Amino acid sequence: MKRIPRRSFLESCAAATALGGSPLLKGWVPMSKQRHVVVVGAGAFGGWTALHLLRRGARVTLVDAWGPGNSRASSGGETRVIRGTYGPRAIYTHLTARALQLWKENERRWHRQLYHPIGVLWLVENDEAYEKAALPLLKEAGLAFEELSGAETARRYPQINCEQVRWAIFENDAGYLTARRACAAVLEGFLAEGGEYRQLAAEPGPQVAGAELRGIKLSDGTTLAADAFVFACGPWLGRLFPDVIGDRVRATRQEVFFFGTPPGDQRFTEQALPVWADHGRGFIYGIPGNEWRGFKVADDTRGPPFDPTTGERLPTPAVLQSAREYLAFRFPGLKDAPLVEARVCQYENSPDEHFIVDRHPATANLWLVGGGSGHGFKHGPAVGELVAKLVLTGEAAPPEFRLSRFDAGATPRR
Ligand SMILES: Cc1cc2nc3c(=O)[nH]c(=O)nc-3n(C[C@H](O)[C@H](O)[C@H](O)COP(=O)(O)OP(=O)(O)OC[C@H]3O[C@@H](n4cnc5c(N)ncnc54)[C@H](O)[C@@H]3O)c2cc1C
Repeated sequence: MKRIPRRSFLESCAAATALGGSPLLKGWVPMSKQRHVVVVGAGAFGGWTALHLLRRGARVTLVDAWGPGNSRASSGGETRVIRGTYGPRAIYTHLTARALQLWKENERRWHRQLYHPIGVLWLVENDEAYEKAALPLLKEAGLAFEELSGAETARRYPQINCEQVRWAIFENDAGYLTARRACAAVLEGFLAEGGEYRQLAAEPGPQVAGAELRGIKLSDGTTLAADAFVFACGPWLGRLFPDVIGDRVRATRQEVFFFGTPPGDQRFTEQALPVWADHGRGFIYGIPGNEWRGFKVADDTRGPPFDPTTGERLPTPAVLQSAREYLAFRFPGLKDAPLVEARVCQYENSPDEHFIVDRHPATANLWLVGGGSGHGFKHGPAVGELVAKLVLTGEAAPPEFRLSRFDAGATPRR
């Protein structure tokens, strides 16, 4: 009997993708060629990756230790900003534009609101390099925005103290996303479309240089085999892959405060005020409303190192005090506002704050995804789309996201 040579995962994927070249077969893969992909991590990156893999015809098992948008995950929490202004970093402005389309498309599909299109207001004081660099890129990406003078900003938003604000960008195609609810919606969509979800912790099996990974170990003592694996484990990625990632993903403690507005006061609702981003001293931003959770204020400055598994999530009095002082200055109507909620989360920072999306250098069917660096959530749908394409076609990731940039000495953004 003639033996059929076993094809590698990538050869099979290339064949399946070639078939998919016909518009009629787009996204469809015959059962005999259907690949099984395991995605570990159901946060913004892993959840969307699993969904896109499924929609491109793979059989997908999604695994998470604590659940999508859980309280330890970087994607946990009420809300996340979506904005296209990224200084000179064009890749993220374009990724935002694509993500925005996908957020809207999936909202329609699921009949639920996840994106609140209330706009984002960038307040510019003396250092305007970041915002100036962003303007042509916003235009190029087709994201609508207005440039406002300081006086016009003060007139439109009398609840903001615009002292020293020279000008502002108002991004119309922007706003905020409901974070943990979106992670749950992605899982629901994934299950409804035929995906399999397992709530277990996973670790990669032994990787043999030059060989493909055959299976991963699960916390129930079983092994899960597949044709390809994606680890999208947020702040845990370095711990799972100490040799390849290690401290290239560092978790820092970030505190977020929600202040109570005066009873019946309309000035600080999302009807009256957009998301605001203040690049004056450091980078402080906030979201009004938050579906009635309070007026959110957060400082983007990186906090001390944080353990995402064992770290206690109690806010620090000094950080709270500095948020109060900021609030009293920029939003005088909220001076002495009570704290109604607080959260401690973590950023999972790469050294240059670019994402990490790449194949494991020693294992062809293993992909590592993470390094959201405090700005990954909004991009979830577009990153998931990209990762699914790379895994199923074997194409290389954009240079900004590759691991090899670290060998060339990636430098911090600021
Ligand atoms: C306070 C704060 C504010 C932010 N603001 C914004 C913002 O305004 N806009 C924006 O775009 N981004 C923002 N971000 C960043 C953004 O939220 C993150 O970059 C993004 O959510 C990271 O998603 P992830 O899927 O990589 O990681 P995570 O959400 O952490 O997901 C990783 C998942 O992996 C699971 N996991 C880990 N280890 C294992 C294992 N061994 N086995 C199984 N499962 C495992 C975890 O349970 C988790 O669910 C903010 C982050 C924080 C903390």
